[in-house]
Order: sequence, then structure tokens, then C-alpha cells
Amino acid sequence: TYIVTDNCIACKYTDCVEVCPVDCFYEGENMLVIHPDECIDCGVCEPECPAEAIRPDTESGLDNWLELNRKYAAAW
Ligand code: SF4
Repeated sequence: TYIVTDNCIACKYTDCVEVCPVDCFYEGENMLVIHPDECIDCGVCEPECPAEAIRPDTESGLDNWLELNRKYAAAW
């Protein structure tokens, strides 16, 4: 899955939301998040993000962000 990280905070762009084929972006408290169970890992959103906030969860050190994406997305 892909997840949204700190660079998204206060970012005003929503290019990622528009390209996602499964609409798995949700609004968190001050950033967008990806629902980790709905993301199909297509990778289309990553290059669209001007803030480079979208990362694959295979990158190390992102466990806390993964949980935050899951928490905010589940709130919907
Ligand atoms: Fe949506 Fe694909 Fe990005 Fe997952 S990787 S959030 S399915 S655009």
C-alpha cells in the first residue's frame, strides 16, 4: 500500500485524489490519507503529489504514518 506522510500537512493540492482509480483517499484532521486496505498499490498517485508526501509503506520508518492513515481513513 501507499501512505500519505508529513509533507501533506497543510498542502492544498488534491492531484492525488483525482488520479486514484479506487477513490481510497480520505480527509484526515490536517492532511489527506490513504486507506491502506483499499489501496491497490498502483502507484499512480505518487508522482502526482507536488509535496512528495506519498510514499510506499515498504520504505523504512513509516510505521507511525501507516497507523495514522489507517486511523483517519477508518473514521469515515
Ligand atoms: Fe490510489 Fe493507486 Fe495511490 Fe493506492 S497507489 S492510493 S490505489 S492511486
